[in-house]
Amino acid sequence: MCGIVGYIGYRDAYPVIINGLKRLEYRGYDSAGIALVDNLKPVIYKVKGKVSDLETFVGDGNRNGYMGMGHTRWATHGEPNDNNAHPHVSMNGKFVIVHNGIIENYSFLKKKLASRGYSFKTDTDTEVLANLIEYIYLFAKVSAADAVSLALRKVVGAYGIVVFCVDEPEQLIAARKSSPLVVGIGQNEYFIASDASPFVDYTNQVVYLDDENLAVIGKGAVQIKTIKNDIVNAEVRKIDFDAEEIEKGGFDHFMLKEIFEQPKSLRDTFRGRIDEHHSSLQLGGIMPVMPKLINARRLIIVGCGTSWHAGLLGEYLFEEYARVPVEVEYASEFRYRNPIINSEDVVIAISQSGETADTLAAIQLAKKCGACVIAICNVVGSSISRVADAGVYTHAGPEIGVASTKAFTAQVSVLTMMALFIGRAKFNISAEKYTELITELNSVPEKIEELLKTASAVKHVAEKYKDSSNFLYLGRGCYYPVALEGALKLKEISYIHAEGYPAAEMKHGPIALIDEKMPVIFIACQDKSYEKIVSNIQEVKARKGVVIAIVSEGDKTVSAMADHVLEVPKFNTAVGALTAVVPLQLLSYYIAVMRGCNVDQPRNLAKSVTVE
Ligand code: GLU
Repeated sequence: MCGIVGYIGYRDAYPVIINGLKRLEYRGYDSAGIALVDNLKPVIYKVKGKVSDLETFVGDGNRNGYMGMGHTRWATHGEPNDNNAHPHVSMNGKFVIVHNGIIENYSFLKKKLASRGYSFKTDTDTEVLANLIEYIYLFAKVSAADAVSLALRKVVGAYGIVVFCVDEPEQLIAARKSSPLVVGIGQNEYFIASDASPFVDYTNQVVYLDDENLAVIGKGAVQIKTIKNDIVNAEVRKIDFDAEEIEKGGFDHFMLKEIFEQPKSLRDTFRGRIDEHHSSLQLGGIMPVMPKLINARRLIIVGCGTSWHAGLLGEYLFEEYARVPVEVEYASEFRYRNPIINSEDVVIAISQSGETADTLAAIQLAKKCGACVIAICNVVGSSISRVADAGVYTHAGPEIGVASTKAFTAQVSVLTMMALFIGRAKFNISAEKYTELITELNSVPEKIEELLKTASAVKHVAEKYKDSSNFLYLGRGCYYPVALEGALKLKEISYIHAEGYPAAEMKHGPIALIDEKMPVIFIACQDKSYEKIVSNIQEVKARKGVVIAIVSEGDKTVSAMADHVLEVPKFNTAVGALTAVVPLQLLSYYIAVMRGCNVDQPRNLAKSVTVE
């Protein structure tokens, strides 16, 4: 998820683009780059780091030009370094491009282009697209815009792009599919950006490009068509948000935006990994260590906080499908013990930021003992992703809210794909079952989309219990880690004491806490322990406890007993955990807001814990 800004008009493009990029930094800040068109020629600066690093890098250099494009990157393909920073230039220098998204079939296209003499200077999927456009342009002798359209017809994946062609230097070409792009229309000037925040100071007239739309933006006119060349009569709309509101996508907080982003972030996690027939999974990053993973004597999952909860779900999934013994460890404990690990073990390290100090230290220890280490990180090129032997990126996009939400569901999705892949490779899962499970997993984004429409029901529950001082979260099986995660969310942002427990453990202690003031949240979805959890609910009700139950849609039994029910989609497998966590994220969010807490920056917490 990168930020893109383009400008063409009568102002100095440099400050327009730089200030615009600063407003888009919430979308990623691995590297920043700018291409200005001075005297019809592109002048390019790009550097690892933030937009402020780019400004320092540009220094007193040539900043002339009334048109140009800029990019702030959140890397998906290729480490965040100067070289992989955007803009990218095609091999013969004809095209300059900035891109937000993932070209899924980049490796196929790269091979094809290589066989036709193309070489590549970077590790990005974007450079492949730049070269594909150029190849078509030179080979088919078409206009730049037609070359872009033809190239995009060959692309599988997501893109928001701005393209400049040196032979047609008075226009910019923009196109999008599944990545946002907005055109701002001023008086004799045009803006293009990932959202409208970079140009709200200049114009409030916008055109939101639709998927597979392409805009040719020249001085004085914008033409929009589809990439198949059909004319589009785009509607010019008026916006009346301020920049901050736009960055948050109209949501009050980043956390809420990220909760609502989960359908998209999960689609990005699956992008290029689940095939269209749902019959196979591609996990390119771990293919080199697959034999080790399949033959592992034991898996050890390490993580902290929310990542540790994802690991507990991983345990459930790997045992169920991969049939391999699993241990889940707090990275901080693991590293200070004298764990018995050897080269037949595989360690899976989970960290959103990829910088968690304890997890990093745990990896170093595991490597010293000869274990193979696989990383599951969100941030490309992070320390953990570099020291691991192999890894799978979650591609959830930057997570700004300190309380992790979309990173958690992305981590669990990656673990599910890994467990299914190993299960199939070991013939524990038949081809039919494999397709059924992948189809179920692939349906999660859509199911969460539906589920989010019922957020007001969660808000209603939040309103009732916002003043409680304690909460108990109970679940069994794969819903036990969900209970832990729900309790952690509440603690983190609303500062209410909350405990997560396996529901069956309640009678061994926590039941003593229950009275009419204690809300007890049961994750009581229909699975093999459903009957048992129904009994646990009765035990709480018998002690006058207040029960809020997360149930599978259509549930009658629990609904008749609980004080409140929140329905989630029905799944027969552990995939249900991915949807059951959503109302709990929302509940903690609403309660925190109602208590006046700083949701995005809760006290005493930091996003990336680089201290031990
Ligand atoms: N795939 C491109 C890169 O890694 C764009 C990244 C993105 O938009 O997330 O540079």
